[in-house]
Amino acid sequence: MSTRRPHGERETGAAPDDPAPGNGGDAEAWVFETLRAECDPAGIVTLTVRVPGHRHNVVTQSFLLDLEAVLDQLDTGLPPLGLILTSGRSGSFFSGADIGRLETLLRAAPPDIEWICQAGRELFARLSSRPWPSVAVIDGACLGGGLEIALACDARVATAAPHTLLGFPEVKLGLMPGWGGTVLLPRLVGPGAAVEMIAAGESIDGPAALRLGLVDACVAPEAALAAARTLIHWRRADNAHMTARRRLSGPVDIDPAEREFLAATSAAVIAGRTGGHYPAPPAVLETILAGSGLPAREAAHIESKAFTRLITTPVARNLVRVFRLGERNRRDTGVAAGESPEATAPRDRPAVVGAGIMGAGIAAAHLRSGCGVSLIDIDPAALARAVPGILEEAAWDRATRRADPARAAALAGQLRTATQTSLLADADLVIESAVERADVKLALLRDIEAVVGRSTVIATNTSTNPIARLAMALEEPRRFCGLHFFNPVRRMTLVEVVRGPATSDATVAVAVAHAKRLGKCPIVVQDSPGFLVNRLLMPYLHEAVEMLREGTPATRIDRVSRRFGMPLGPLELYDLIGLDTAFYAGLVLADAYGDRIEASPVIPALVRAGRLGRKSGGGFYDHAGARSSRPQADAAATIAPLLAPYRLPERPTTDATIADRLFLPIVLEATRVLDEGIVRDGHDVDLAMIHALGFPPFRGGLLAWADSLGAAEIVRRLEPLADLGPRMQPTPALLALASSAGRFTGP
Ligand code: NAD
Repeated sequence: MSTRRPHGERETGAAPDDPAPGNGGDAEAWVFETLRAECDPAGIVTLTVRVPGHRHNVVTQSFLLDLEAVLDQLDTGLPPLGLILTSGRSGSFFSGADIGRLETLLRAAPPDIEWICQAGRELFARLSSRPWPSVAVIDGACLGGGLEIALACDARVATAAPHTLLGFPEVKLGLMPGWGGTVLLPRLVGPGAAVEMIAAGESIDGPAALRLGLVDACVAPEAALAAARTLIHWRRADNAHMTARRRLSGPVDIDPAEREFLAATSAAVIAGRTGGHYPAPPAVLETILAGSGLPAREAAHIESKAFTRLITTPVARNLVRVFRLGERNRRDTGVAAGESPEATAPRDRPAVVGAGIMGAGIAAAHLRSGCGVSLIDIDPAALARAVPGILEEAAWDRATRRADPARAAALAGQLRTATQTSLLADADLVIESAVERADVKLALLRDIEAVVGRSTVIATNTSTNPIARLAMALEEPRRFCGLHFFNPVRRMTLVEVVRGPATSDATVAVAVAHAKRLGKCPIVVQDSPGFLVNRLLMPYLHEAVEMLREGTPATRIDRVSRRFGMPLGPLELYDLIGLDTAFYAGLVLADAYGDRIEASPVIPALVRAGRLGRKSGGGFYDHAGARSSRPQADAAATIAPLLAPYRLPERPTTDATIADRLFLPIVLEATRVLDEGIVRDGHDVDLAMIHALGFPPFRGGLLAWADSLGAAEIVRRLEPLADLGPRMQPTPALLALASSAGRFTGP
């Protein structure tokens, strides 16, 4: 927009002095870097966008320049009959703004940001500022800036294809639309629906967009261009687009009582959803309400200012960073060098051994992602129990919140079950998820290797057995690795791919690719006790119990953690994991890291009393039952006698100290993990903490949060906790960062 684009290359047709494709005569095309403008004999110009260098169309600077240039050319020739904006990429209209551009904006000065908002908005507004009508044809993702371009047109045709999704996901990056989305959407669909759509950041499909009034037609993909042409002819005939433009440029039609009701109800819903940690959704509500009583042009200024405020917040910076971490993970093969395609070919005949909680969840994840799976368990009753749940979960329809029976019946054919490992003969990937006993696993792995082919990858879901030890069962340990899922598998997106000393690169690459196929976020970790996540979880859980022993109420400890942004407090998490499971894992971790963290005597005391957590109806809290949605109840009085033998001297404490005691030891453990090379870098630590433990994304990840404090400040905060022992002692890596003013996440 700032630099004028030279005219595009003219491909065919009229004389060189004809400046634009809209000059009538034969069909001709003008080709720009990111779009092609073609005029048909009827005088309708079609702009077909294909932004190079990206898998999906994104709004790049080049596209903006090309759009400006083509609109300039249309202004200088004979006016066209109408304009159609469409994508040259199947299944992608525009997936939003170029994230690289957004990152530049994070560092820009506020006046420059406001200018960029205004310039983009004015450019898009040119699509509906001439006598000819414009129509966007939306097939595929139409998100963020892409939807703002579509909204700037006079009409929209969406396809009914499942890949067509319209939405404003900006709030997920801590932002809001900045090119007129908060101005145009409420004027088109009403302020309530606009607040809901933009503040929630969820997308809707073509038929839903038609019901909402966001699009003018929803048709099959092959009929979309014809529908757009028809709309142009109709608009030319009745001039309805001119009436609509006048309406859309004025204030929103809403009476004061309705406005007040919207303000109150939406504010409450947003506060519930964000816990006060995410500034973008409330800013969306305020912006739409503030702009609704004004002409569109003035509302747009309010939007630019609000967008600028948001993009300069640490939350936006952190969420953009988390988005980038996810992108890096999606591109990652898990190994440094490329592997031969045969070695890493997709695995289409996977099998899971063990039909317990985890095996069933892993089998369901396969079916859900369209991958047939074999499931083996030594116990026929375990299989009989697991299958209905697997099919229900795989056929679960999020929209209707129930399983689709027809889909479940269809998926049943994709699930093979057996009690014999002989079913594994044709498996190309086996995930062992049997009971957590080393002797059982060693014998089972030996059996599996004896049955499967030479190129089959064998993985284990063990939580506590070293991969090196289990690998001893195998003749070819290079094809063996850990594939550690988290409970519940349907919700937890992280998978640790654990590389044993003998694991080959090809095995790691297969495991990483397979986890991604299941929609998971795989992180490669080196074999060591607790791998990555359980090791980082250990100090957090342990410290909560220590504080409980000092007399701090469980409810207070958990409240501080949730206020920090964790989905569950540490003691609530204990109850979810199960205290028996946690006890066993704690022994393994204490064995390895006992110099700083000892196994707590409180956990076995609760286990002995039958308080295993949610599954037994009570742990640190009372629960109505594992499947109940009833809230947990304080069990302080019940567990007091169990805690009594293990009480520690009381310490005066504040909420800030509780937070420091919960989270700073995780940072210390992360510095050790990095020193030992357990993961590649701090980005993987941050991604793992978010995907496995729900560490709050608005803080950018554990180490991004540590950076926000600074290493020197962390050392200072640890000083008053020094008497608690080695677990609060700064590590050499922390001290080095503090003295060099270095960053945990690198330069
Ligand atoms: P589970 O006790 O619910 O199920 C284990 C299943 O293994 C049972 O159905 C049992 O019949 C079967 N089994 C036992 N011996 C077998 C054999 N020789 N061949 C075939 N099947 C056999 O256990 P789970 O919680 O699902 O855990 C399974 C694995 O996943 C363990 O290695 C555990 O460490 C790991 N894991 C568990 C969790 C968790 O939270 N439960 C989380 C991550 C990983």
